[in-house]
Amino acid sequence: MRFLAELEHELHARGAAGLTRTRRTLESAQGPRAVVGGRRMLVFASNDYLGLAGDQKVVSAMRDALERWGSGAGASHLLSGHFAPHAALERALAEFVAPCDDARALLFSTGYLANLAIMTSLASRSDAIFADRLDHACLNDGALLSRAKLVRYAHADWRALEALLARTAARRKLIATDAVFSMDGDIAPLRELLALADRFDAMLVVDDAHGFGVLGAGRGTLAQEGLASERLIVMATLGKAAGVAGAFVAAHRLVIETLVQTARPYIYTTASPPALACALLQSLESIREGDARREHLAALIARFRHGARSLPWRLLPSVTAIQALVIGDNDAAVALGQALWERGIWAPAIRPPTVPAGTARLRISLSAAHADSDVDALVDALHACAGTGGTRAITRS
Ligand code: PMP
Repeated sequence: MRFLAELEHELHARGAAGLTRTRRTLESAQGPRAVVGGRRMLVFASNDYLGLAGDQKVVSAMRDALERWGSGAGASHLLSGHFAPHAALERALAEFVAPCDDARALLFSTGYLANLAIMTSLASRSDAIFADRLDHACLNDGALLSRAKLVRYAHADWRALEALLARTAARRKLIATDAVFSMDGDIAPLRELLALADRFDAMLVVDDAHGFGVLGAGRGTLAQEGLASERLIVMATLGKAAGVAGAFVAAHRLVIETLVQTARPYIYTTASPPALACALLQSLESIREGDARREHLAALIARFRHGARSLPWRLLPSVTAIQALVIGDNDAAVALGQALWERGIWAPAIRPPTVPAGTARLRISLSAAHADSDVDALVDALHACAGTGGTRAITRS
C-alpha cells in the first residue's frame, strides 16, 4: 500500500539522520533510581524536581481521595465533571501564585492543553503573538491554531521584540515566553518583557512549567523576580515539580472567565479525576513547606556545575534544575547518552527539532530526591566518557 510504503520511507529517513526517538519503559516508580529493562538506573531524566512524584503524603492523599471520590470525573467541567476538590485547588493556586490582585486560576488536564486554550481563546485572525524562538512547542502550536500572526523573536532578545512591537498594526498583542526554558534551563528576561507589554499594551503569557514549585519559594519565576500585573497570564504544569499531573492558568478573573466560556481545550475534554486534585492539594502543601527540598536542589545544582566545569562540552549557563551539556552532533549526543547508560546513568540526549540543529545535547535534570553522591556519580561518569578524570581528579587539583 502506497500510504504505508511512504511512512516506512519517511521513518527510515529519520533513522538515517539520527533522529529516531525511542521510549524506555520503567518497571518501577519515578525517582532518582528506576528499573529499566531489569537494570537499576540512576535517573537524571525526569522533571520531578522536588521528588514529589514518590512523596508518601501525596500518594496517601490520592489513595484516600480515590476511596471518597472514585476514579474518574465522568464528564467535562462544564457538564458534571467539576468537583469540590477541583474548586478548592483552583482557589489555592490562585492565592499561591497570585499574578495580580483579583486573580483566578483554572485547571486543565495537561499543560499542552492549557497553552492551546490560552492562545486560541485570547487571540485570533487580526491579532499577533510574539514568541521567543526557544518557546515550548505547545505555545507555538497554540499560536498556529489561533490563526493570529505568529512572530518569533531571537531567544531572550527583548530589544528585537521591542522593534517588532513598535512596527505591528495588530489589534491584540500577546507576548509568549517560557519562564525557564525547557531544554536550556535559562530564565527569560521577564521584567523587560513585562515593561514592553505595558508600553505596547500587550499581554504577557508566561509558561512557568519548570519554575513553579522550584523558584520564588515555590510560587514560581515571576514571584522570584517580584513581578505582578494584570497583564500576566501564567501557565504552569502540575506534572513536574508538583509530582502529579495536569496544569493551571492563573490570571485576571476576566481572562479566566473568557477561557471558561470559550476555550475549546477546556470545554470539550473530560475533567481530570477529582482524586488528582486532592493529591495536588497535598502537593501544594509540600511545595509551600518545601524550602529544605529547594535548598538541597540548589546545592546539587552548584555541585554539578562545579564538577562539570572542566568537561570538554559546553555547559549552558543555568541556575535551574535543567542543566544542558551541548554536544552538537546528533549521533555524538546519542553516543554519549548511550555510554552513560552503559555505566548505569540515564541522562537523555535531546536532538532537533526539540532543539536547534547542531545543538544536540544531554539534558540533565536534577531533583531534590538526588543525593550528593548521585551527582558525584554522574560527574565521574561524564569525565570517564570524556577521558578527563573525575570528581577525585577535581578534588586533587
Ligand atoms: N510547557 C513547557 C515549557 C513544557 O516543558 C511542557 C512539558 N514538557 C509543557 C508546557 C506541557 O505540559 P504538560 O506536560 O503538562 O502537557
